[in-house]
Amino acid sequence: MKGFRCASLVSAGFAIEGVDASGAMTVMVVRAMSRTRACPACGAPASRIHSRYHRRLMDLPVGGRAMQLIVQARRFHCDAVLCGQRIFTERFKELSPWARRTARLDGIVHHLGLALGGRLAASFAGRLMIPVSNDTLLRVVRRHGRPSPPPPSVVGIDDWAWRRNFRYGTIVCDLERRRTIALAKQGFPSPTCQK
Ligand SMILES: [Zn+2]
Repeated sequence: MKGFRCASLVSAGFAIEGVDASGAMTVMVVRAMSRTRACPACGAPASRIHSRYHRRLMDLPVGGRAMQLIVQARRFHCDAVLCGQRIFTERFKELSPWARRTARLDGIVHHLGLALGGRLAASFAGRLMIPVSNDTLLRVVRRHGRPSPPPPSVVGIDDWAWRRNFRYGTIVCDLERRRTIALAKQGFPSPTCQK
């Protein structure tokens, strides 16, 4: 196929070191292509490698098979004289430090959870070769938060009694959707109960 390269399977800035398709899922070993990383404390570029370690993350399925990435990450020495950060770990903007899925797979899991709910979404994800449990789907939806509702077009503002005949506040409602938008306590005695 013209124009397709294996490197297209991974995010820009990563190189593929090897692929193993002999097991139940395809495993792809990748590494960052840049030779240097900016120190998070002082910003100086560092190239002296302290050590390497592996991170395992699930990625989008390829060819009907689940895909696991093994990311070869590096720890660098910062050699800037005045910097207090002696060693730092490289970060990838596509992969948050504690993530177990790539951002692009996490986005799919989130949308499945929103569209179908936990159990049905987990079953459908299994058919798409995305191994996630019902609980994981719910956690991902909670973490991303629900989409913000459309702005109200008909708003009602009224007083409400916080404690009967004692303190009053203001309530703002979306009258079309019959939902409370905000409650504000004013914290002073109502004029009607002053004698
Ligand atoms: Zn530094």
